[in-house]
Amino acid sequence: MAEEVRVRIAPSPSGNLHIGTARTALFNYLYAKKVGGTFVLRIEDTDAERTSQAYIDNIFDSLKALGLNWDEGPDVGGPYGPYTQSERFDIYPKYVQELLDKGFAYECYCTPEELEAEKEEATKNKKAYVYSKKCENLTEEEKAKLRAEGRKPAIRFSVEKAQKAFHDSPIIHFEDLVKGDLHQDTSLIGDFVIMKSNGSPTYNFAVVIDDMLMKISHIIRGEDHISNTFKQILIYEALGAEVPKFGHLGMILAPDRSKLSKRHGATAVSEFVEKGYLTDALINFVALLGWAPSDGVEIKTVDEIAQDFRIHEVSSSNSIFEYDKLNWMNGQYIKKLSIDELKERLKPFLTKYDLSSMTDEQYTKMVEATREPLTILSDITDAVPYFFGDDVEIDEETQTTVLDTETAQDVLKTFVEQAQDWEWTEENLHEKLEAFRGYYKEKGIKPKVTMWAIRGAVTGRTRGADMTAILVVLGKEKSLNRAKKAIK
Ligand code: GLU
Repeated sequence: MAEEVRVRIAPSPSGNLHIGTARTALFNYLYAKKVGGTFVLRIEDTDAERTSQAYIDNIFDSLKALGLNWDEGPDVGGPYGPYTQSERFDIYPKYVQELLDKGFAYECYCTPEELEAEKEEATKNKKAYVYSKKCENLTEEEKAKLRAEGRKPAIRFSVEKAQKAFHDSPIIHFEDLVKGDLHQDTSLIGDFVIMKSNGSPTYNFAVVIDDMLMKISHIIRGEDHISNTFKQILIYEALGAEVPKFGHLGMILAPDRSKLSKRHGATAVSEFVEKGYLTDALINFVALLGWAPSDGVEIKTVDEIAQDFRIHEVSSSNSIFEYDKLNWMNGQYIKKLSIDELKERLKPFLTKYDLSSMTDEQYTKMVEATREPLTILSDITDAVPYFFGDDVEIDEETQTTVLDTETAQDVLKTFVEQAQDWEWTEENLHEKLEAFRGYYKEKGIKPKVTMWAIRGAVTGRTRGADMTAILVVLGKEKSLNRAKKAIK
């Protein structure tokens, strides 16, 4: 029987769900979907000081919003739970003891000051710091004496012992699903702490125990974890457990090739959503950070991507997070929304306007008239102020370059006179404005100059939505009042 594929995403709730973690979650999800595997969510909250419930909620909400629903995890449960590390603290000591019994771990009584001194010495000698193993061969008497001083031991993993027991050479290898052969000189690793003196497990240890007990078969994560993977492989081996397969993804960099951070723009999924990115667009965009469609068609649903996803084809190099491309893609997704959907989705970005002053018909027309250039939903906020209120704010440039001209003044007077008698329907206004432009064209005024005058007076701007639509939404009275006000 083929091995069951079980993958996981294991975020640490020390912040809102990062877009990079969303990509890692997606690639795990895709890998599982392709073969009917199981996608597990585990919350790695051993660092209590940096953890908060708000971040945990944000992680849940963001993953759900992106459609990355987990098959097992907190709040849905599963056979290998609990899936939150802080609820698993009583599980770890048994495995620490197993490593101590097998001689692959030892008690370390070094104080932070002693360790700091070792590090300083290494820095002084320009050497990479590796723990001195001072405590590896303490006798029972020595340990008792240190305990009597009030010292509590941390537990360290004995790298060299594990290496010698399971590998011929200090250079150990594994075959990465994405990057191929990777190796590490274990003499540079240093005996690392697996359990702190306060009894809490460290990341490298807890992650192995959890992945082992949760029967995770494939671990797909960022390449910043490669150095951890060698440590983790040694722990699996020391416990006599099967080593899962690993795949490490290149990092996501900002357009300036530095680490993606706040100063480049949004980084958390929820921030993108608040700015008006659609989750369908976000997840599609994020898939392209490392994966490429075999048919070259980039706009795809997650299901379509899953069909075409092969982990060994994922790029092993870093990806650049092109905000411009995301904006373009988001615009494409906005264009695909039905008018009803778009009307709903825009509402959170229109709270500063009195939507109740409009009929549904007017709102529909306004959205139809303004949707074309939207790249993010929040663009709507600045696109529509002139649809609301009796008066309109005229921007300075429009006033001086358009409304103050003699031509504009003449156009507006004629417009007010003639338009009083117009029937205010879209079709009729369309025709009347056409004729109106024609009339001025004969007098040598370009059609666009004629329209600038009306647009300037009615919207306060020189650019915007289709003029007929604007007049229809505003209605005759408001439109003509604004035109009159602009006449000197
Ligand atoms: N909690 C770790 C992190 O957020 C998980 C790393 C892993 O996938 O093993 O980086």
